[in-house]
Amino acid sequence: ASLQRFLPPYPHAAASRCRPPGVRARPVQSSTVSAPSSSTPTANEAMSAERLEPRVEQREGRYWVLKEKYRTGLNPQEKVKLGKEPMSLFMEGGIKELAKMPMEEIEADKLSKEDIDVRLKWLGLFHRRKHQYGRFMMRLKLPNGVTTSEQTRYLASVIEAYGKEGCADVTTRQNWQIRGVTLPDVPAILDGLNAVGLTSLQSGMDNVRNPVGNPLAGIDPDEIGMEAFRSEVEKRMPNGVLERAAPDDLIDKKWQRRDYLGVHPQKQEGMSYVGLHVPVGRVQAADMFELARLADEYGSGELRLTVEQNIVIPNVKNEKVEALLAEPLLQKFSPQPSLLLKGLVACTGNQFCGQAIIETKQRALLVTSQVEKLVSVPRAVRMHWTGCPNSCGQVQVADIGFMGCLTKDSTGKIVEAADIFVGGRVGSDSHLAGAYKKSVPCDELAPIVADILVERFGAVRREREEDEE
Ligand code: SF4
Repeated sequence: ASLQRFLPPYPHAAASRCRPPGVRARPVQSSTVSAPSSSTPTANEAMSAERLEPRVEQREGRYWVLKEKYRTGLNPQEKVKLGKEPMSLFMEGGIKELAKMPMEEIEADKLSKEDIDVRLKWLGLFHRRKHQYGRFMMRLKLPNGVTTSEQTRYLASVIEAYGKEGCADVTTRQNWQIRGVTLPDVPAILDGLNAVGLTSLQSGMDNVRNPVGNPLAGIDPDEIGMEAFRSEVEKRMPNGVLERAAPDDLIDKKWQRRDYLGVHPQKQEGMSYVGLHVPVGRVQAADMFELARLADEYGSGELRLTVEQNIVIPNVKNEKVEALLAEPLLQKFSPQPSLLLKGLVACTGNQFCGQAIIETKQRALLVTSQVEKLVSVPRAVRMHWTGCPNSCGQVQVADIGFMGCLTKDSTGKIVEAADIFVGGRVGSDSHLAGAYKKSVPCDELAPIVADILVERFGAVRREREEDEE
């Protein structure tokens, strides 16, 4: 099939399809629509024709590659792709050969070095050259964060084999990332994933990333995520037609964003879901085995990951809730963490990530515990940490966001620091956070955060709270 069929039939088609209902098209400048005075193409027509021409062509009847004339000024990643189709490592079994090669041999050859550092990302494998040489982070695909105890157990068995080098993270895309993977094991791990219905393929680079959604889909008594209802109403309307409301009218503006932690009734009578707090999303193999056991013993064998890096056990019969709450793992993954821990999110940071400017996960926990000693908050405050401007920790939507940077402290020494953002909101009243203060040394963050919590979030200083008592 030709790529041409995915292109709009005329230059303005795509723009008109994207226009929100009710928004009129801007009048087209007369110069762009007036008929040419001769058969010579106008500059606009020539430009349109060039823009409509597909930039790719089929190679070997199998792959789509960039045409020669468009191959100037490419960035290094695109050049690596042109050098060898990354997915061929999987489709044609190249990964099996690569897995047999010693690292020295791989490093000595440009193509195989590119394989481990770049092309394997299309298979969901990210070489941690800088912080964990020879080991890979493996990113799964987990639509809507829904997984099973069997899958969790399998992932736990993979990281368990790597001892202290292996761990896993719940990510801000409701996904698992497992760490410590070595190349010789990759073919067997890919087979193992396949056997439990998982894949890591195309979870990085220019591929569709993990689709996220409400982790309570299908079990939330308040669920709207509404087409079936609408079509029933539509059938009952005169002429079977129901006008669509403006997007703004669809959401109850008073709806408060909820967290999923603790015990909550499901829409299914007699069932509850139990949200567990996983501090900054980090889990070890033993934790994963336990999570799988709890899902089997108390629920339906299902686990759901959330974008706040936590885990929901759905389908727990009400009579089993008490016993679940008494499980030892819930001392570590609490259903009722403190108000500041509830909304704490941190990206990978420089423990593993080559892009990171600062350490994030441990720092986030440390600063939060320091702040908790200074103030008490009346409600949960979402604090997000991100180790660099890539913002995997999504600081711009946090109540208070911390973006890693470096600065000089009072003695002139270069130290880890953070730019502070305040005021991000999610939901119907969404708003990006604004910069509050730049380049604050991490060691000086706690009192500043305490001030923000008092000024903007109704926190009370601990001394005063004690005085009043
Ligand atoms: Fe790495 Fe930066 Fe993403 Fe954090 S935000 S995981 S440091 S790339």
